[in-house]
Amino acid sequence: MDTQVWLSLGSNLGDRKGQLQFAVAELAAHPQIRLGRKSGIYQTAPWGNVQEQDDFYNAVAEIFTTLTPWELLKELQKIEAAAGRRRIVHWGARELDIDILLFGEAHIATGELQVPHPYIQDRLFVLQPLSEIAGDMDIPDKGNLQLIINNLQGQQRVEKICDAEDW
Ligand code: AMP
Repeated sequence: MDTQVWLSLGSNLGDRKGQLQFAVAELAAHPQIRLGRKSGIYQTAPWGNVQEQDDFYNAVAEIFTTLTPWELLKELQKIEAAAGRRRIVHWGARELDIDILLFGEAHIATGELQVPHPYIQDRLFVLQPLSEIAGDMDIPDKGNLQLIINNLQGQQRVEKICDAEDW
């Protein structure tokens, strides 16, 4: 049975819009993944302890998959690797980063995988594009999406730079 999954896509190195386009094309081409909606692209300052990096381009995509969460994680890591990502610096600049935000109703807490994503409630650059395509929702363990967004508004600057149809 297909599970509805929400993914976060990010890039702050190289052709950022091109990397996001590459990610959705790879997802759509996978035999066990069906691409649903995607958000526009949002631009944000880098997260964490970073210096002298380009701003991030972020988006959220909805997929439906027959893969298990762990199988999906491996497929996402293959797509990241294909985009040329090198894991040299933690929090470092990255060509492409794909995270699993929500995987159906799953609650996963292993070293390898945590779902819902542990930082989802802290990141306006994830919540804003998620609300664009998912509408309001209750995020398991975290609370109401729109309320969380309202609380973060003003603390983080997230700027929409293009609509879903434009990438
Ligand atoms: P990062 O460098 O921030 O992309 O972190 C990648 C690591 O986070 C991977 O090795 C995953 O095992 C781990 N991880 C834990 N939870 C998740 C998740 N929900 N989505 C993607 N990666 C995850």
